[in-house]
Amino acid sequence: MPKYVYDFTEGNKDLKDLLGGKGANLAEMTNLGLPVPPGFTITSEACRRFLEEEALPEGLEEEIAEHLDALESRMGRRLGQADDPLLVSVRSGAKFSMPGMMDTVLNIGLNDESVHGLAKQSGGNERFAWDSYRRLIQMFGKTVQGIDGELFDGALEKLKGGRDDLELDAADFQRLVTTYKGIVRDQTGEDFPADPYRQMSMATKAVFESWNAPRAVIYRRQERIPTDLGTAVNICSMVFGNWGMDSGTGVAFTRDPGTGHQGVYGDYLQNAQGEDVVAGIRNTISLQDLEGIDKPVYDELMKIMDKLENHYRDLCDIEFTVERGKLWMLQTRVGKRTPGAAFRIAVQLVDQGMIDIDEAMTRVTGAQLAQLMFPRFAKDAESKVITKGMNASPGAAVGKAVFSTERAVELAARGESVILVSRETTPDDLAGMIAAQGVLTSRGGKTSHAAVVARGMGKTCVCGAEELEVSVTERRFTAPGGIVVSEGDVISIDGTNGAVYLGEVPVVASPVMEYFEGSGELGDEDELVQAVHRIMAHADASRRLEVRANADNAEDSARARRFGAQGVGLCRTEHMFLGDRRRLVEDLVLAASSEERERALAALKPLQESDFTEIFQEMEGLPVTIRLIDPPLHEFLPDYTELSVKVALAGDQAGEKDRKLLAAVKRLHEQNPMLGLRGVRLGLVIPGLFAMQVRAIAEAAKAVPGAQAEVMIPLVGAVQELEHVRDEAQKILAEVGVEALIGTMIEVPRAALTAGQIAEAAQFFSFGTNDLTQMTWGFSRDDVEAAFFSKYLELGVFGVSPFETLDRDGVGRLVLLAVEEGRRTRPDLKLGICGEHGGDPDSIHFCHQAGLDYVSCSPFRIPVARLEAGRAALIGAGSDTR
Ligand code: PEP
Ligand code: MG
Repeated sequence: MPKYVYDFTEGNKDLKDLLGGKGANLAEMTNLGLPVPPGFTITSEACRRFLEEEALPEGLEEEIAEHLDALESRMGRRLGQADDPLLVSVRSGAKFSMPGMMDTVLNIGLNDESVHGLAKQSGGNERFAWDSYRRLIQMFGKTVQGIDGELFDGALEKLKGGRDDLELDAADFQRLVTTYKGIVRDQTGEDFPADPYRQMSMATKAVFESWNAPRAVIYRRQERIPTDLGTAVNICSMVFGNWGMDSGTGVAFTRDPGTGHQGVYGDYLQNAQGEDVVAGIRNTISLQDLEGIDKPVYDELMKIMDKLENHYRDLCDIEFTVERGKLWMLQTRVGKRTPGAAFRIAVQLVDQGMIDIDEAMTRVTGAQLAQLMFPRFAKDAESKVITKGMNASPGAAVGKAVFSTERAVELAARGESVILVSRETTPDDLAGMIAAQGVLTSRGGKTSHAAVVARGMGKTCVCGAEELEVSVTERRFTAPGGIVVSEGDVISIDGTNGAVYLGEVPVVASPVMEYFEGSGELGDEDELVQAVHRIMAHADASRRLEVRANADNAEDSARARRFGAQGVGLCRTEHMFLGDRRRLVEDLVLAASSEERERALAALKPLQESDFTEIFQEMEGLPVTIRLIDPPLHEFLPDYTELSVKVALAGDQAGEKDRKLLAAVKRLHEQNPMLGLRGVRLGLVIPGLFAMQVRAIAEAAKAVPGAQAEVMIPLVGAVQELEHVRDEAQKILAEVGVEALIGTMIEVPRAALTAGQIAEAAQFFSFGTNDLTQMTWGFSRDDVEAAFFSKYLELGVFGVSPFETLDRDGVGRLVLLAVEEGRRTRPDLKLGICGEHGGDPDSIHFCHQAGLDYVSCSPFRIPVARLEAGRAALIGAGSDTR
């Protein structure tokens, strides 16, 4: 039987899979000798078994009882003991942090008897004892028994009658306990469970079950956290921050999670329990002010923070409680940070000698870099700042103010940009936060739920804008000077400095984008740009994969060069047939004789040639892979319905060309065009089409000194198809006197399966994973994502769309097979990828492991690909790209 329960003295920080992040780090802090309240962790494996079998796994209850027994002996009192109760918290804690998404219950062990024991234990502090008891019923009712939290909040608000919670006395809380117990009875038909052991067991099961709570499911999908990990449960002896004014609770960071700068960052709340800070219930004071309140505690905390940062060699965030002048550490973890801070901190740690540059590179991700390339607000914009809040998560967001999650989701689904405005957010607002461009709250600090979640998602957030009076029911807020913003009014928020603007503020490029645009030269001395520069330089030095661009014209090619592309991996020639040039394709389709067809092709050739010439010029001798025309020709013709109406309305007056076109559109119509006359099939069926393109490539290459052309044939499924085209192409290249590689895309499953044969005729393979995914799964790439992927994601068929991240188990196996068999036939076969996956971090790691030579992606993804290729080389197999 596996071991399901670990005492805090038994675990360590590397056991996150089993003990979750919180449990593993509590154990680590215990082993470091830091003041952690004693306790134990129930493993995530127990959770998985519980969720699978819908019952606690065999032996778990006995194991919990043994550990509880040991805890009780150590603490010298029993759980819920009437005269001197041991109380515990039951907290969730998964491998990956999911702030606020799962359940926690504090003060387990209180009932009508032990509440008196607690009061006695606290030197007669009745207020504290009854406050703790009512908190238990409230949290237990909401999270374990599924009672609507509003019922408890409403009763509390009514009792307060406008007073601050600090003004409530023992009698008030005792009354509240009676009211709360009534709510529990009304809602569940049973009394609040008085047995402390039953409370603990019910809470444990509820925490297990909260792994599948809707908000946790949404959060995992958003953050790409696997659905099958389960959560560990931490049972920890309670310490109290709500004991009186000499107690309190706080959250701290060892560095500013917004900028990365070292210092004292955090929030503190006197006479309160942990969830009060995170929920933003009362406005907190700055951690610095704790020094004036309790210097010894403050000094000890600073020492511990220093120790933790040196131990973890990274920014740590910390939750702590002060109980009557004694400091207790309740949590630490490597803290979430903004993308900018991630780069800055990584490089600062290198400079401080804590990590080396290799490790710094593993501490940042391509996704973070992509976010840093987003635009921000123009500095000199003349828009009106209506108030300022805390700069909780950077970025520039513009949108219509909305005051509920439902409205945010509804408008976003219509393609509108929205800013979610609220007093404070709760985990139930997650869907709204995902839908919104940004989040604005009037309460809560940098550690409030809104701030933590927004930072994790890379979403712009301004919180604690205290001057705003937000009325959710009236769907509006009032800013100083009587400015009223109603639902639908446009506002702009700046998560970098906390400013809130009325109306739309113009945005400008980010400095990181300007750095890349400036062809890799260091434009200014900004610390962030410096950090990006150093890490990118190291990524380039470390990576084995080359990075090329998908570029169809000179402008994209030039940008790709500036961003560091080492060639063009895919030039889609059909994009050159759009706009005015459609007319020429129409002539080709309508050609009734070989003379007419040759005339049409002859008209297209110089246009193609000049396009290729420009691209070769921009790429200055770097390889340029030009793919011959791929899509079905009817894509260039007018729409069937529109054309029929036009011809019908014109009647006898209809032009000759329109009639012919209509006939051609009818003739070329296909039920499944993506499986029809396209790619290499066009080349084999329409005489002269591919020949014209190859000649244009050859002559352009000849005209540009050093040009390195590669001719790529799309949609090949059989070596025989390729042989026909290759023979013709080789002849033309020889006639023009140009050397060029001839290769194929591997995008039809049959091509992957017969790669050994195809490599006989191909000098390179480029994996077209868009089509390969489409044909491997049988998913129409144009339809399915909108049609039913949300259901598939919800059902967990896959955690992320296979069009976004390469499906290693299916499509990936085809790639690996083709690599192996292709190279067996031709050891120097050049291998690349040019489907969208070429710019996706996880897929890039796969390409590295598969032994490809290069990835090719859109110009804007090139910096991301360079960084991830560097990380892949370092992290190696089975890498985690989060
Ligand atoms: C592919 O199929 O992956 C590919 C790159 O080609 P296209 O997207 O043009 O079909
Ligand atoms: Mg394709």
